[in-house]
Amino acid sequence: MGEACLDPAERLPRVELEALQLARIRACVERLQASGNGFYRERLAGFRASDLRSRKDLARLPFTTKADLRDNYPFGLIVTPMREVVRIHASSGTTGKPTVVAYTARDLDLWSEVVMRGLVAGGLTPEDVFQNAFGYGLFTGGLGFHAAVTRFGAALVPTSVGNTARQVMLMRDFGVTAFSATPSYSLTIAEVAAAEGVDLPSLPLRAAFLGAEPMSEAMQREIEARIGVTVYEQYGLSEIIGPGVAWGCSRRAGMHLQEDYFVAEVIDPQSGDPLPEGEIGELVLSAPTKEAFPLLRYRTRDRTRILGEPCACGRTSARLERILGRTDDMLIIRGVNVFPSQIEHALLGIPGLEPHYQIVLGTRADRQDDVRVRVEASVTAAAEHESRAALEARSRERLRSALGLAVEVELVASGSLPRSEGKAVRVIDQRRR
Ligand code: ADP
Ligand code: ZN
Repeated sequence: MGEACLDPAERLPRVELEALQLARIRACVERLQASGNGFYRERLAGFRASDLRSRKDLARLPFTTKADLRDNYPFGLIVTPMREVVRIHASSGTTGKPTVVAYTARDLDLWSEVVMRGLVAGGLTPEDVFQNAFGYGLFTGGLGFHAAVTRFGAALVPTSVGNTARQVMLMRDFGVTAFSATPSYSLTIAEVAAAEGVDLPSLPLRAAFLGAEPMSEAMQREIEARIGVTVYEQYGLSEIIGPGVAWGCSRRAGMHLQEDYFVAEVIDPQSGDPLPEGEIGELVLSAPTKEAFPLLRYRTRDRTRILGEPCACGRTSARLERILGRTDDMLIIRGVNVFPSQIEHALLGIPGLEPHYQIVLGTRADRQDDVRVRVEASVTAAAEHESRAALEARSRERLRSALGLAVEVELVASGSLPRSEGKAVRVIDQRRR
């Protein structure tokens, strides 16, 4: 789709792309060293940009971590004078202080460009009516899509999150053809539409640009069926720029990294050593061309792998596989590593269950961790009189074989778990420490 009109930057031969990346990293190192910024003066002391001769040499550069951002809260890592900063965002910061990021006018241009390329990859045209149901505000999702859709020239409906019945009404009344939201909020929209008697699949809705939280393959298919759209997955994080870091194309073969601006590596999260292409580990990203808030080798804590083979769509960028979860989301249950996304994947394959679940961690009498999965049974399952015990047993068995671990399953009534407007809260930790 749209291959003929690809931006030449999206078709750069790999060798040229890698040379460009390296040149940009080198220029960034020099700029940071010359900036007079205290953090970088120390961090990059004695480092010679000219020592970066191949991609392998990236490993010589120190990492930047979330802790570095926190320690320099709020503005310590901004390297341009405040008069050049035109926007400040902050991520939710579930623990402690939020993470603060800043943009110059050129940074905002770069941001809208990378998000816009993803809209083009999803076949968006200026004829489209686009409902942006990402939250507006400090969170980068809302304003990130807002700027890109506006620059692209589709008709933007800036609903933000919430007031779901009105979202559904506007989708129908305005003939909305494309929308953006988190995966969990798009399910909330689907549910409210069903309750209001609006049949989303029969509307002109065609494309959904969903991201900001993990979405299993099964969840993606579920959303596509319930809403009648093709889902184009979006990945990003505010530290790097917001949405637009990587996004899916029509070939459904992972998410294209915007490598001319963001340099990606995958490392072993324990040792910090780079892993060979194709191996699963922690994603590390550099954003060397950003003016106000460049980052070198930022440890995202997101677990994924990079697929390097060329994509059939014609873009030469490497692709990120679906994010498995954050390294700090990983549950270690009686010695077994489990990601919430694995539980989601297993649950969604079980007929009779709804895609609404919570993972409750507790402590057993013998002080071992225990996991209980609370999941909604569908109304039809209840109507079919499959005994609750049989459905629970079937679910337990499925999870046991998928995870290699016995977990309790508790069926709850359809509609009883909290619904999400932004990022869903999947894990409730009630462990006694
Ligand atoms: P916060 O840390 O407050 O959630 P952000 O809003 O910047 O801050 O969220 C970025 C994070 O959201 C990413 O590091 C990643 O964990 C998650 N994320 C974003 N897009 C996706 C996606 N497509 N799949 C899985 N996780 C995603
Ligand atoms: Zn592609």
